[in-house]
Amino acid sequence: MRSKTVISLGKFYPRKRPFRLDAVSRRVPFLPYYHAVGEASDLPHISPLYLPRSLAIFKKDLETFLKYFEPVSLVDFKKNPLEKKNGKAIFHLSFDDGLRQIYEVVMPLLLEKGVPATLFFNTDFIGNKKLFYRYKAALLLQTVRDTHFTNKLRTHVISDEILDKLAEEYDVDFGDFLTQYKPYMDWEQLEDWKSKGFTIGAHSKNHRPYFEMKEEEQLRQTLESMKILKTENFSFPFNDVGINTSFFKKVKDTYPGFTSFACTGLKIDPEQNHFQRTSMEGSLASADTIIKGEYLYFALSSLIGKNKRKRSS
Ligand SMILES: [Zn+2]
Repeated sequence: MRSKTVISLGKFYPRKRPFRLDAVSRRVPFLPYYHAVGEASDLPHISPLYLPRSLAIFKKDLETFLKYFEPVSLVDFKKNPLEKKNGKAIFHLSFDDGLRQIYEVVMPLLLEKGVPATLFFNTDFIGNKKLFYRYKAALLLQTVRDTHFTNKLRTHVISDEILDKLAEEYDVDFGDFLTQYKPYMDWEQLEDWKSKGFTIGAHSKNHRPYFEMKEEEQLRQTLESMKILKTENFSFPFNDVGINTSFFKKVKDTYPGFTSFACTGLKIDPEQNHFQRTSMEGSLASADTIIKGEYLYFALSSLIGKNKRKRSS
């Protein structure tokens, strides 16, 4: 989720001033990402946490991306992340968590428009085997009214054990949700997604936050999920907070082509083949406003040397 400051910057972009992408786009790529697309009422595991983009808004987002940028596949993006195509900067679209709506609602639209995309999966959840703890918290928020709990459910990192106990107490059935609503794609849908020419990547095994883990566990979650999915592409669950340079070095010992993504908006990253994406969710702002906000923020932070992601060794 991007800060309100960045979005309001976008709103202040002078209307009559032509939007110049070049100064920024020759330094960082634009990588918009989402989780699901749909009406809030159809996404009970997401809407209590943040506002998803509706299909209508997503369609407008796509039009805006295509107005300013040229879409490229992940393979082409990796070859040259700062490439220009038809005189425009490029963009690559991605989706985290492997949710069903991307396959059902978004994929047909992407095929129609010819926009390549990558989907990042948590291997524990494919085929609706288990539920991400944040989605458990969201489902609980639909029932729990005690503000002592609701504040924690909204913002805290909570163990699956505690969430499962709370669910029992409040008569919320995560198993039912998994078998009936089916929030995640299954393996067959994943294969179909690939057969249509789209790409995949791993997103850890169980989506617990990496900043809570020792490096050994971060590596296990990363390497095992990539092995299962037979991929060198990875997006960090939540963000790359708590990841040291040594982590990348160790992953690249096994996967020299390791290409990874986080979500701090437009920022230069010191790590090779590690890229910062821009979240399109959590506000009603148009893609135009979000993009202009990000570009202005990058340009301003460049002036004071704050446009680079910092990382411990
Ligand atoms: Zn995620």
